[in-house]
Amino acid sequence: MSAAMPLPDLPWLDAPLDAILRRRDTLPHALLLDGPPGVGKSALATQAAAALLCETPTAEGRACGHCLACGWFAQGNHPDLRRVSPIDEETAERSGAGVKASKDIRIQQIRELAGFVGVGTHRGGRRIVLLDPADALNLESANALLKTLEEPTPSTHFIVVARRRQTLPATIVSRCVRVDVAGPTPEQALAWLRRTRSLDAEGAELWLAAAGGSPLRAWSLADDEQGAVHRKTLEVLARLPETGVAASADVLALRPAAEWVEVMQAWVADLGRCRLGAPARRFVSQHARLERLARQAHPERLARFAGWLDQQSAVASHPLNARLFCERVLMQYEQIFAA
Ligand SMILES: [Zn+2]
Repeated sequence: MSAAMPLPDLPWLDAPLDAILRRRDTLPHALLLDGPPGVGKSALATQAAAALLCETPTAEGRACGHCLACGWFAQGNHPDLRRVSPIDEETAERSGAGVKASKDIRIQQIRELAGFVGVGTHRGGRRIVLLDPADALNLESANALLKTLEEPTPSTHFIVVARRRQTLPATIVSRCVRVDVAGPTPEQALAWLRRTRSLDAEGAELWLAAAGGSPLRAWSLADDEQGAVHRKTLEVLARLPETGVAASADVLALRPAAEWVEVMQAWVADLGRCRLGAPARRFVSQHARLERLARQAHPERLARFAGWLDQQSAVASHPLNARLFCERVLMQYEQIFAA
């Protein structure tokens, strides 16, 4: 999310948060937060953890924000909370020798939990492990986690965030109690975007469409800096194939591959829709350009490219050579329109 501004309140999380807090006294050993992308599952996990660790919660069971526990929580050093996420480059660097960045949650990270869940809690209350996202578990770390889930220690509660529940091991899913996190309706999302980003109706609709309906992504795109990046990416993609691969790669390869690949996937999906005579969904403002391109596109190559690009998106977060990767993708894209 944008570093420029903290995430505003997400009113649609009230219902699932209340559902969790109502069970405060009979809290399951493991909760699995499940719902569509970009609705705030991570934010909900954090709010729930804060409320459960708060020592003087409000009448509604929310975190008071003033007690000692809330203070530690806000500073990220509550002794009865552990966050388990993939280690990014920055954290690895800060942690010094022996800690490597990875897109996986490593087995070592799960093993380290043993020391945390094996002793008494510091504040005599409950202790919480926040696992986000569980999709980052690899086979080894998922198996190690399973052991911890199978032999629950008293007062330990796992809050597990799933990006795509379908890809999680069934053995883990079956040991968690599911909490459905529904997003806002499109009307609620638009009203929220207008309020939190001071947009007019048209602006809110454009960003929500560009974000594929995900409110948090739309909110992040509507940030000046993020929005400019998105517009630039779209501009470059829309000018292909007339602008050559090299000139386009000059611009795109400056950004993280995952960023422009995601925009390109959406662009190609809209091309496919226009090819079938349907209106563009994500890039409504580019409809005329998409229609023109769709007429030039070779239908089979377009479908094949879309599938190939989906596979590439898996490696897009860590391409070995960002520039080469970009050129390769753009050359494949050009082929859709080659005579
Ligand atoms: Zn508190």
